Amino acid sequence: MERNEVELSVVIPVYNEEENVEPLQAALTKNLDALGRRYEIIYVDDGSRDRSFERLRVIASRSPQTRIVRFGRNHGQTAALAAGITRARGEVIVIMDADLQNDPADIARLLAKMAEGYDVVSGWRRKRKDPWLTRRLPSALANRLIAMMTGVELHDFGCMLKAYRAGIVQRLHLYGEMHRFLPALAAHEGARISEIVVTHHPRRAGKSKYGLGRTTRVLLDLMVVKFLGGYISRPIHLFGGFGLLCCAGGVLAGAVTLYEKLVLNIWVHRNPLILLGVFLFLLGVQCILMGLLAELLLRTYHESQNKPIYTVAETVNFEKVDNE
Ligand code: UDP
Ligand code: MG
Repeated sequence: MERNEVELSVVIPVYNEEENVEPLQAALTKNLDALGRRYEIIYVDDGSRDRSFERLRVIASRSPQTRIVRFGRNHGQTAALAAGITRARGEVIVIMDADLQNDPADIARLLAKMAEGYDVVSGWRRKRKDPWLTRRLPSALANRLIAMMTGVELHDFGCMLKAYRAGIVQRLHLYGEMHRFLPALAAHEGARISEIVVTHHPRRAGKSKYGLGRTTRVLLDLMVVKFLGGYISRPIHLFGGFGLLCCAGGVLAGAVTLYEKLVLNIWVHRNPLILLGVFLFLLGVQCILMGLLAELLLRTYHESQNKPIYTVAETVNFEKVDNE
């Protein structure tokens, strides 16, 4: 199959899902065949230690549209998705979990929504079938926070069932556990984003790979995304802004100390304000210097790889420039 022949790629990370892959493949092919589009299914085996890969290999031997990437060890869900996304040949890439919690029947609806003119259509597990305290509550809070901070108004960032236009998602660089922020990163690239409610099932076989520890990691990742979205081409504004604020606080504290000494005749040794003043001033200077360093790094990042600081969606009457 040539790249242009595939219209739809479904990318699925698999980590210890031996009982799920066969029913998943059956449900998928049933739904994808009914779509009448040329499709491929890409499983990325993320270093499973059970029989997932053997089962996938049998599946692929029967189905030429099914392709497998097998990692040498467990690199995590984000890495698995990235490996699948780079290899996808379709114009539309649908991502989903392997655990049958997502319903392949929703793919048709994602595509229909996309045809209305969106680049990303996100699934929203409105009736989510996961434990409340450890999953749904932290996820609800995280979703509100992510939407607020990134300005991307989605209800469910954690739902992996989403459809992306390949041209956009293949441009994104994923690190760490950033897969949850794919829509936000796509929004930085100017993607039009929408969402639909999707069905969610309880996990029937296998275990969830995550616990509560994920919450803090999501918060930290959110800071990175916010930073990348707002300040990637002007870090000095963030660091310097905070630095100047600290310096101003320091000068103010110093001035008050001086005033107390000169006018009220209170000696410094009884006054913690001077410590605060020195501390804030030093912190401020540090932040500004860090901002300057970040500006240097940023230039190295863009100029060494010839990366522009903008993304072009389209040009008219221009030769195509390679790295745009
Ligand atoms: N997964 C993976 N590598 C990992 C952890 C998970 O490829 O290190 C896959 C897993 O097989 C599943 C998807 O990522 O297809 C989501 O994982 P899980 O269902 O455990 O997460 P949850 O739905 O509980 O958030
Ligand atoms: Mg799951």
